[in-house]
Amino acid sequence: MIDLRSDTVTRPTEGMRAAMAAAPVGDDVYAEDPTIGELESRVAALLGHEAGLFCATGSLANTLGVAAHVRPGQEVLCDSGAHIARAEMGAHGALTGMTMRTWVTADGLVDAAAVAGLLAPDAGPYLVSTACVEVENTHNFGGGTVQPLDAMRAVSELCADAGVGRHLDGARLWNAHVASGVPLGVYGSLFDTVSVCFSKGLGAPVGSVLVGSADQMAAARVLRKRLGGGWRQAGVLAAACLYALDHHVERLADDHVAARAFAAAVRASGGSGSAGVADPETNIVVVRTGTVPAAEVAARASTAGVALSVVGSRVVRAVTHLDVTAAQAGRAGAVLGEILAG
Ligand SMILES: *Cc1c(COP(=O)(O)O)cnc(C)c1O
Repeated sequence: MIDLRSDTVTRPTEGMRAAMAAAPVGDDVYAEDPTIGELESRVAALLGHEAGLFCATGSLANTLGVAAHVRPGQEVLCDSGAHIARAEMGAHGALTGMTMRTWVTADGLVDAAAVAGLLAPDAGPYLVSTACVEVENTHNFGGGTVQPLDAMRAVSELCADAGVGRHLDGARLWNAHVASGVPLGVYGSLFDTVSVCFSKGLGAPVGSVLVGSADQMAAARVLRKRLGGGWRQAGVLAAACLYALDHHVERLADDHVAARAFAAAVRASGGSGSAGVADPETNIVVVRTGTVPAAEVAARASTAGVALSVVGSRVVRAVTHLDVTAAQAGRAGAVLGEILAG
């Protein structure tokens, strides 16, 4: 099976397992795990922030990051395809009591005019006030799109002028950085809090880091514990993330090549929908399935040895990663192309 459902399906490499086994650890609820401390300060420095907080998942890091800005009864703005809106099981409303309004985009790209149209920082006693704007880079359901720096800068300035918090869901910020060449610190400088994920393209088994100010991270640590996310000798997991930082960032370029090979093979089939398969910017290819339901396309691909995920009634997604080669991705694209060609 060529498994392209997600870049979360990777297994830790031998080198990563060795690093995990050798990691010094301590009780992280007492902030005594040296490996976690090293990971948190290293990621904070990379993104130009004061402090970091290691979390079990990206959803938890985003929940804590957005909650750093928004009190119950206030709102966060994001795009309608955002992971925080679609894929975090309503955590932001259900657990931290905020509401959400969205702007609509085709490919997840941030739209400063749309943000300006929604921003309501001091809405008064009768309307909900905006306390945070959230941006995702790269954009997952948008097809791994890299947010243009100009648009992010415009949104960042709008929020700063309005006194509204800025959270970046950077689950795949590593991919954006490798594809665009924009330094991580430049991305980090445009936001007050940033989450990054290690269990996607970086190939660690578990883990995300949230960064922000020391005060914000101290409050996030309390909320993390309240939500049941305090943990003990999790330095074995942080060691995998440190190993990934050293060994798996630059190689993301290989995943981007593999994703382009997949897209090219789908297009080569000339089947329905294949004309709409653009060259991916990073490691995610979103393919519209035309008149055939996405679930049926995914089932047929699975029978032919290719696992894809269904992300809409007529949309499938393929994600390249550490455990697939460009040649395998090309073969998988040809399988999907044949199915679409009927
Ligand atoms: C995967 C992902 C996350 C975090 O997901 P978890 O499964 O909770 O780790 C957050 N944002 C985006 C855009 C993602 O793709």
